[in-house]
Amino acid sequence: MNLDPLPVDALAVGAHPDDIELVVGGTLLKLHSLGYKTAVLDMTCGEMGTRGSAEIRAQEALAAAKVLKLTARENLGLPDSKVWCDEGSRTKMVRALRRFRPKVVFTHYWDDPHPDHAHIAQIVREAAYLSGLAKYDVESGQARYRPSAIAHFMFPRTVIPTFVVDISEFVQDKMAAIHCYKSQLYDPNSQELETNISNSGFLGRVDARQRFYGGLISVENGEAFVVKEALNIADPIALLTRDMNMYS
Ligand SMILES: [Zn+2]
Repeated sequence: MNLDPLPVDALAVGAHPDDIELVVGGTLLKLHSLGYKTAVLDMTCGEMGTRGSAEIRAQEALAAAKVLKLTARENLGLPDSKVWCDEGSRTKMVRALRRFRPKVVFTHYWDDPHPDHAHIAQIVREAAYLSGLAKYDVESGQARYRPSAIAHFMFPRTVIPTFVVDISEFVQDKMAAIHCYKSQLYDPNSQELETNISNSGFLGRVDARQRFYGGLISVENGEAFVVKEALNIADPIALLTRDMNMYS
């Protein structure tokens, strides 16, 4: 990985190319429209995916990055389905955090049935702390850095989100980014084994989930996040009175 600083406001860290598009794509588009710089770090190339190949998914990820208007999209190249929170993965993540210097990191939820997803939540949390220690990994020559917050996505529907982002204006572009992953999506002519994503009802479930989370804040479509720490709110009035539809 190139270690030169490439500061962004938000960094979305996902296990497999397409994870990010499904759960934080609308939020990244919205942040871009607000003038923020965004980047994606895929941890693996998705080579264990039932459909397609690592090469095809790399091309698809590049196409989706353009749709999402990202400043950068990089891949850490960890082995798909064998991602562990160990010294090697922590150091790689620390170097990525010190390179991108994101104010906020979006990543997986810690209690996810896919072990890569759960381990990446842990890697990001540990690396976010370690990257603030000046004496950790001095060999890289990078300056210490610690992001302000980590927001987790893709959690069980029984978990109440900490906050929901209204992505109603950005749904079309988000779906266009998801459609870049043709090798993963429903194809009636494909001879490959079916997966959750390639099932003909999958995109309908993405739509239903967005509408469910949107409904929690009285808008059409939303993306939901969990933050583990208490939030430091400068202006609770400004935060708590925004566009709430109080009258029924
Ligand atoms: Zn995944």
